[in-house]
Amino acid sequence: MKKISLIGSTGSIGEQTLDIIRSHPDQFQLVGLSFGNNIETGMKQIVEFQPAMISCSSKEGADKIKQQLQYTATVLYGKEGLIEVASYGAADILVNAVMGRIGLEPTLRAIESGKDIAIANKETLVTAGHIVTELSKKMGVRLIPVDSEHSAIQQCLHENSHKDVSQLILTASGGSFRDRTREELKDVTVDDALKHPNWQMGAKITIDSATMMNKGLEVIEAKWLFDMPYEKIDVLLHKESIIHSMVEYIDGSILAHLGTPDMRVPIQYALSEPNRLDLKGGERLKLWEVGALHFEKMDYHRFKCLQLAFDAGKQGGITPTVLNAANEMAVSLFLEGKISFLQIEDFVDRALDEHKALSSPTLEDIVGVDEETRRIVLSYIN
Ligand code: NDP
Ligand code: MG
Repeated sequence: MKKISLIGSTGSIGEQTLDIIRSHPDQFQLVGLSFGNNIETGMKQIVEFQPAMISCSSKEGADKIKQQLQYTATVLYGKEGLIEVASYGAADILVNAVMGRIGLEPTLRAIESGKDIAIANKETLVTAGHIVTELSKKMGVRLIPVDSEHSAIQQCLHENSHKDVSQLILTASGGSFRDRTREELKDVTVDDALKHPNWQMGAKITIDSATMMNKGLEVIEAKWLFDMPYEKIDVLLHKESIIHSMVEYIDGSILAHLGTPDMRVPIQYALSEPNRLDLKGGERLKLWEVGALHFEKMDYHRFKCLQLAFDAGKQGGITPTVLNAANEMAVSLFLEGKISFLQIEDFVDRALDEHKALSSPTLEDIVGVDEETRRIVLSYIN
């Protein structure tokens, strides 16, 4: 029985993780649960799974949970609560499914407590990849990918095959606006941007997919997860989202991972690997119905955010932190209707232009620069 702590339980990945736990009660047990402000959904999850350690964003939320609780559990709140659930001693593994940089400290504390991390929260690896990977090596814990591309790559790599890899090829669906020109992006609305053709996801990552920043963050995520130089990471446009990513070897062989666009597959694999479990209620891929798969070379001018992310990754040091913080702030301003779609990349570009380089940043540097970058980006609208 694998004991699981889950942070970000009320989100898209969080709910799908609970679906996997629910469908394999003989394999998995939820012992810790954390969410933000969605008390209604969170409370339903608590009643169903009865975790011993619980946390939400606010004190009022925690008080409400305590009033309704029918069994004995610890109920905490705020950043400390989030960290306590992430590093809860009774759990074997943490599923980190929060959105954004907020996931960094809980991840570090969970690694320190010796837990493996199933990581969906890519912003954590983008903003502090060197700290997270060094600490996990030191503590002998594993970072297991949940993101579908990285799960695919992990499955196409095998022991000792690293030295024979010539390229990791991440596939990109292209997001909501893949068939529009840059000119046609000027007046797109939040609702338009939230309509992803292939995947149902949280709001922030859906916007990141439309700007192609998501793929940029995934490139940096791949660098850290697989210890691969940027020169050996490529991105290919693949509209059907059937091939989730590929590994090319030095002899020209390419191994690909195929499946339906269903995040429960990589979530379940992250929890069960190296074993596989039946995916209850999962659709089988019917390739004869798909018929044909299409691929296009990536256009880095059309999808400028991808270029910005590659450049920031290669520059290293504090630059990916600036990229991530500027993007998180710009996307939230777009979602609030305060800036236009194309201003997201303008703001990120400007923040990157103006930042001061810093190599080997500490956690304190990262937290400070993250907050400062958010303030700077916010000032662009005034
Ligand atoms: P959602 O926005 O759907 O969910 C975010 C979760 O984090 C919610 O449970 C939310 O709680 C919680 N949360 C947010 N802020 C806080 C906080 N300050 N304290 C505690 N909890 C908080 O996001 P997704 O599930 O879409 O994405 C999560 C991560 O996984 C992201 O990093 C994303 O890039 C990555 N990912 C997502 C994929 C997907 O298919 N959705 C695919 C691959 C990667 P509440 O709502 O209760 O406030
Ligand atoms: Mg992905």
